[in-house]
Amino acid sequence: MAAFEGLTGRLQNVFGKLRGKGKVSEDDVNEAMREVRLALLEADVNFKVVKEFIAKVKERAIGQEVMKSFTPGMVIIDIVNKELTELMGGTQSKLAKANRPPTVIMMAGLQGAGKTTTSGKLALMLQKGNHKPLLVAGDIYRPAAIKQLQVLGAQIGVPVFSLGDQTSPVEIARAGVAHAKENGHDYVIVDTAGRLHIDEALMEELKQIHEVTKPDEVLLVVDSMTGQEAVNVAKSFHEQLELTGVVLTKLDGDTRGGAALSVKAVTGCPIKFAATGEKIVPLEPFHPERMASRILG
Ligand code: GDP
Repeated sequence: MAAFEGLTGRLQNVFGKLRGKGKVSEDDVNEAMREVRLALLEADVNFKVVKEFIAKVKERAIGQEVMKSFTPGMVIIDIVNKELTELMGGTQSKLAKANRPPTVIMMAGLQGAGKTTTSGKLALMLQKGNHKPLLVAGDIYRPAAIKQLQVLGAQIGVPVFSLGDQTSPVEIARAGVAHAKENGHDYVIVDTAGRLHIDEALMEELKQIHEVTKPDEVLLVVDSMTGQEAVNVAKSFHEQLELTGVVLTKLDGDTRGGAALSVKAVTGCPIKFAATGEKIVPLEPFHPERMASRILG
């Protein structure tokens, strides 16, 4: 994964040295952890998250079990793998499902994060799973956002509910959910407006949409390429909106993606999906354990 290439290379280096050793001293562990710490910081993982991560790995690695093992290097790599998996949420966190359909999914995020694109990818994923999703065009401020969603919908064969750009997004969202109920849609994806920065008007509107649609899922779309800002954005949104999940986008980008790995640790909000590319392909569930293995290379 492009966003973690640098990190993978550095970790492979550290572990290459450990792997060959029959015996590992406490000094070796400390040295390896120093290098892992630098690699994580270099990859832009949040510094507090790195500190806790290293402390946990060390605590487990310096314990009896590792030192007595015949392959201590391998045991340490395994510990790092497990802790990295934990850091990203441990196990896969599934999309919520309403007891009585439709399941309402509200999409939030800053402008340009990939909300509209991700809404399309999510709709396609659901459609491929034999569901009948409805997309609701609630982003009335960004020029062409409605059109973009309509084009996307037409491309994947998913209907798009719109009331143009003169009706309030709160009313559009309410009417969209009602439309889904009347027309037998089992999932409604409400695309909302983003701003370039978090502001009160945006949050107020999102809260109102939340109130009228009572979403089963509130997904924050986060651009992995924005570094620590991605973590700050997730934190602010979570404080105001009670997110139920995060979607990391642009993991195909070549900027350091470490910040994205800190999102779960900082906000407590699970990463539910990871997205790559501009093309509309089905969204992929985020698997912490697979991602950890890929990062370790
Ligand atoms: P919105 O303002 O949040 O609705 O953002 P858009 O969905 O319009 O996306 C903004 C830009 O990012 C567009 O050019 C998308 O094609 C692009 N984009 C969205 N998701 C991804 C992704 O996962 N990878 C890449 N490389 N580009 C993406």
